[in-house]
Amino acid sequence: MIHAMLPSKINQVKVSQQTGCDVTIGIGRALLTSYIFPDMELEQQILSLPIRCIHSEEGCRWTAQNKLLQAHLSVCEFNVVSCPNRCSVKLLRRELPEHLQHDCVKRKLHCDHCGDEFTGEAYENHQGVCPEESMYCENKCGARMVRRLLDQHSVSECLKRKLPCRYCRKEFLYDTIQHHQQQCPRFPMQCPNRCGTPGITRETLMAHVKEGCSTATVLCPFKEAGCKHKCPKTAVGRHLEEATHTHLSLLGGLVNRQRLELRELRRAVEELSGSRDGTLLWKLTDFSQRLQEAKSRTSGSLELFSPAFYSHNYGYRLQVSAFPNGNGSGEGTHLSIYIRVLPGEYDGLLEWPFPYCVSFSLLDQSNPALTKPQHITETFSPDPTWKNFQRPRPGALGSVRGGCLDESMLGFGYPKFLSHEEMRKRNYIRDNAIFIKASIDVVQKILNS
Ligand SMILES: [Zn+2]
Ligand SMILES: [Zn+2]
Ligand SMILES: [Zn+2]
Ligand SMILES: [Zn+2]
Ligand SMILES: [Zn+2]
Ligand SMILES: [Zn+2]
Ligand SMILES: [Zn+2]
Repeated sequence: MIHAMLPSKINQVKVSQQTGCDVTIGIGRALLTSYIFPDMELEQQILSLPIRCIHSEEGCRWTAQNKLLQAHLSVCEFNVVSCPNRCSVKLLRRELPEHLQHDCVKRKLHCDHCGDEFTGEAYENHQGVCPEESMYCENKCGARMVRRLLDQHSVSECLKRKLPCRYCRKEFLYDTIQHHQQQCPRFPMQCPNRCGTPGITRETLMAHVKEGCSTATVLCPFKEAGCKHKCPKTAVGRHLEEATHTHLSLLGGLVNRQRLELRELRRAVEELSGSRDGTLLWKLTDFSQRLQEAKSRTSGSLELFSPAFYSHNYGYRLQVSAFPNGNGSGEGTHLSIYIRVLPGEYDGLLEWPFPYCVSFSLLDQSNPALTKPQHITETFSPDPTWKNFQRPRPGALGSVRGGCLDESMLGFGYPKFLSHEEMRKRNYIRDNAIFIKASIDVVQKILNS
């Protein structure tokens, strides 16, 4: 109801948003109640006045007759309302749908997955944990299932779940672990010989079969000597006891073969180290000891042998020998020097008897800067009738040590090459060594022929 005041004051009336007689419309000054009286006509007039919405400043464009304001406010977008869910939030009506849908903590929501109803807050907590939500397996195995089954799946069903190999403890995907175990180095294996040794793995199997297996067949330790016996490792001891005689004779054979081999090698080495230009320069060291040894011999004379050497490339194979204490007519007083022809590789191609001039020299080791060295030299041309220079018996010992010569191999030379007395006059012996030089005069012969 509108309460009217004096007509003159009408234009000052302000209409509050509230209605009803308990609220007074007034101006600054106190109203005198006695002036107030209901004025139905005026009220009708006022209610018919055009007005704007009280929220015009906030942006509401509504404008209509005053009496329609109440109806408008109940739908005005800018009017402040309380959330119908009683969540205690007040807000503009226009903001309500947004609030109800997304923000209101008391809004009611249904989970799409389990169908349960939630308030907003609880729904947010429920999202991401709903047991009925369908999901893909995190291991990317391709399986899809509701969340409540996922734990069980990833622990015991998922093909892509990680498992430690029970042998080597490395981690593998379930669908590759079987393949791995076909190669796992720690995979337990059985000895193929069924020896029953426990704890063999794939990586130790080879070594076991080769070295560790008690039943593996092994060769006799004397196999190098020629024993062909094979037996399980455990039976080797018995074989060694039983076959002592066999093994000894096999070893004897081996030693013999090796001795021949060594002799052949020594010959080859001498052959290679010997000169091939018809000149031998032979140093005899420890001369005083050798002389002493020769003198103290009770039987035979001490003969020392030079390395073999060749008269020329593909020529005669020769050897010089010396008796420090002499032999024959020089025994006890002289140094004797001989040369002999040894069986050589090319004897079949050569002229026989040996035809070349031979010179022996004992070198004077005096310093040439102080005095002219006076070497002692003897030269001879072999006589074709001499037995010593016939072709040596093929297969005769190539290099003879210890004086066990046969007649045909005796050398030719000088029993009295130089007396011990003369030897001491100059520096023939120096640093307890003498040098004997032998030269074969191949050029001379070629020129003559
Ligand atoms: Zn409005
Ligand atoms: Zn609310
Ligand atoms: Zn749910
Ligand atoms: Zn999976
Ligand atoms: Zn493994
Ligand atoms: Zn075994
Ligand atoms: Zn054996």
